[in-house]
Amino acid sequence: MLVLIGPSGAGKSTLAARHFLPSQVLSSDALRAMVADDPNDQAATEAAFELLHAALGLRLAGNRMTVVDATNVDGWARERLLAATRRYGRRAVALILALPVEVCLERNARRDDRRLPAATIRRQHRAMLRSLDALPAEGFSRTVVLRTPRDVEELRIEAG
Ligand code: GDP
Ligand code: MG
Repeated sequence: MLVLIGPSGAGKSTLAARHFLPSQVLSSDALRAMVADDPNDQAATEAAFELLHAALGLRLAGNRMTVVDATNVDGWARERLLAATRRYGRRAVALILALPVEVCLERNARRDDRRLPAATIRRQHRAMLRSLDALPAEGFSRTVVLRTPRDVEELRIEAG
């Protein structure tokens, strides 16, 4: 399991699409859209994560590489994901998109699909920074931190 961590606008979905098959990526936005026709419908969040965890469990049971594309900036959200990997004896890697908040805000302002209030991005970014400190103790087998667009550009992912 690869857990992407970062505020909206950090580039999680772009990174996932670049390195993985669509079928390997479980996206909270896509699952909100699946249940409510709208990736922004926050009322669909609980249902979306129910689906995400159901699919994750089935994929981990089959030993299928799975990417979790959600902000994952809260420790409790990551703990729920880690519990699934423990249940199935799988490994979990954390990949944090720790880009400057200005980059996330600028990309958010430019995007034409879905735009969040700047205050939401700032809050998610602060939670991401707290996550940087918390992650080493959480039980991921590896943690990768990308701090610049160049780090993201140069990322290479190998199986194994
Ligand atoms: P997410 O909210 O973390 O999933 O971010 P997205 O992957 O949806 O990216 C948010 C916006 O930033 C989109 O408009 C992307 O096209 C843009 N974006 C994502 N990654 C990059 C990147 O590496 N470079 C540039 N210039 N734009 C990017
Ligand atoms: Mg996204």
